[in-house]
Amino acid sequence: MSKLVGNKVITIFDLHADVFKVLANPKRLEIVHLIRDRELPVSELEEMLDMRQANISQHLMVLRENNLVKTRRDGTKIYYSLTDSKILKASDLIREVLQTKFKGAKHITGLIDNDMKLEDYLKEYRDPVCGMMVSAKTAADSAKLSGKDFFFCARGCKEKFMKNPELFLKGQSIG
Ligand SMILES: [Zn+2]
Repeated sequence: MSKLVGNKVITIFDLHADVFKVLANPKRLEIVHLIRDRELPVSELEEMLDMRQANISQHLMVLRENNLVKTRRDGTKIYYSLTDSKILKASDLIREVLQTKFKGAKHITGLIDNDMKLEDYLKEYRDPVCGMMVSAKTAADSAKLSGKDFFFCARGCKEKFMKNPELFLKGQSIG
């Protein structure tokens, strides 16, 4: 991440800015959040994000080149995970600041409701599409269906769910 140019002195803030530059992209932030506590192959990220694989690979390359993400090969599949989960703590803190600032704003996805209590904020739900455990704190988006709350890891999962909720709610009553 450091770039030594001639005798230029590199400060900690230069390095800090480099990390922010890499993360200053909504798609890369979304990817980082999806692999917050597990490793995933590109094929699964593609499903969750509803993005083209080539596009995702490009973002993963940037994250990897800057040492934020590491890979593990298993057969033909390459799994991606965070090099250091502390980077996510930083991102979570920024999100908390935004949650407070924009609390209840209707036009922004992933925000908590005005009347949400802390215990509800942290309560974990299973993303009905991919099975990932998410909460209001970590989810990309949510939906209310017949009074029931659903949380989603990313936009792709929500879109799939909204097209045909019954498909993902086997045995669960939503009516
Ligand atoms: Zn999902």
